[in-house]
Amino acid sequence: MINIKSQKIFEEAIEYIPGGVNSPVRAFKSVGLSPIFIDHAHGSKIYDVDGNEYIDYICSWGPLMLGHSPQELTDGIEDVIKKGTSFGVPTQIEVEMAKIIVDAYPAIDQVRMVNSGTEATMSALRVARGYTNRNKILKFEGCYHGHSDALLVQSGSGTITYGVPTSPGVPEDVVKHTLVCKYNDLAAVRRIFEEQGNEIAAVIVETISGNMGLVKGKQEFIELLREVCTEYGAVLIFDEVITGFRIDYHSSPAYFNVEPDMVCFGKIIGAGLPVGAYGGKKEIMSVVSPVGPVYQAGTLSGNPLAMYMGKKNLEILRDNPQIYTELDRKALKLEEGIKANLEKLGLDYTVTRAGSLVCLFFAKGPIENYDDAKRCDIDRFNKYFKALLSQGILIGPSQYEAMFLSNAHTDEDIEKTIEANYEALKLAHQE
Ligand code: PMP
Repeated sequence: MINIKSQKIFEEAIEYIPGGVNSPVRAFKSVGLSPIFIDHAHGSKIYDVDGNEYIDYICSWGPLMLGHSPQELTDGIEDVIKKGTSFGVPTQIEVEMAKIIVDAYPAIDQVRMVNSGTEATMSALRVARGYTNRNKILKFEGCYHGHSDALLVQSGSGTITYGVPTSPGVPEDVVKHTLVCKYNDLAAVRRIFEEQGNEIAAVIVETISGNMGLVKGKQEFIELLREVCTEYGAVLIFDEVITGFRIDYHSSPAYFNVEPDMVCFGKIIGAGLPVGAYGGKKEIMSVVSPVGPVYQAGTLSGNPLAMYMGKKNLEILRDNPQIYTELDRKALKLEEGIKANLEKLGLDYTVTRAGSLVCLFFAKGPIENYDDAKRCDIDRFNKYFKALLSQGILIGPSQYEAMFLSNAHTDEDIEKTIEANYEALKLAHQE
């Protein structure tokens, strides 16, 4: 694999951008490489500046359900640009977008657009605190909810990869209201609610965590969260930045048959343009300014380009349920292929899957929480990553990220990936 051009850009990048990247997991540092710089992408394939082609399982970390730059979404976007890129006064498409989201998510009555997942979760917490007049929040180890101060505690994704449990720069005073339990630990949740339930404003959870690898919330765990929140008057927030519209068009409530009081969405509703949203029951959302006293705002929120692509994306997903069936079938094929390879090679590792999200943990199962995920053999994963990359397969450069499938991935892509997986596993286990 030639990467002369990427190397050259990276040398300049580190001069001007911290670590050469605008988000830490892009650095490839944890796998001992420098990043590839991308030129363009189409469908399931991504191409770097040196002309290498990869089957892409990062897919911008989730939003590209239909693959890269699908014509159904990009058609007409020039006309939107020509009409104006941002107005700072409302547009009709924002209302249409809100309606699509609320229709898809019966647990909520209203939704507010923001620009990222981080903004969505940060704002939802403020609203939940304002609504309940309480300060404490409960989150779970290994769940990542963006990088706002209160949530950057025992979080996953890049913070595990780079070993940042809580970040310098986050004052202890700010996180003293953040309670943390082990994911899937029912007894710990019961205990913390018995002790402090009347002071807890909100519980925020990834129903299926895509930030410590891929770890599913147990059905009884998600049900318990609903139960205790109802009993103690806390707001249950599902962070569906990864799971929303992906595991099902109707997201986690359809998957678990449990409804939250509030929901956060991110990139997935923008199909690759910067967007996020938080929503809730009318009673809760009525505390948001300008109706209520809780302030939250955004100059570019509801941006016309993001609304245009996002709305079209959600309409396609809504009107074509076979997309989900197909995604499921292809992801299952990948899961089974990887499992068969592990068996052939006599490796006792764990594969998890939820819909079109797949993860291979370099550790024996079960993997139910952050501690389990941390048992993985990272050295072997790093060798595996490199061996996949050199065969034209791009996965997240970290053990703690899931593979994202898109509708553009073909059976041939999956077959090629399974073959490459076998070779990469073999290589990773040669001393
Ligand atoms: N919540 C979850 C579950 C996420 O996975 C992420 C990022 N992947 C975020 C929040 C933060 O989103 P963003 O990077 O758009 O700020």
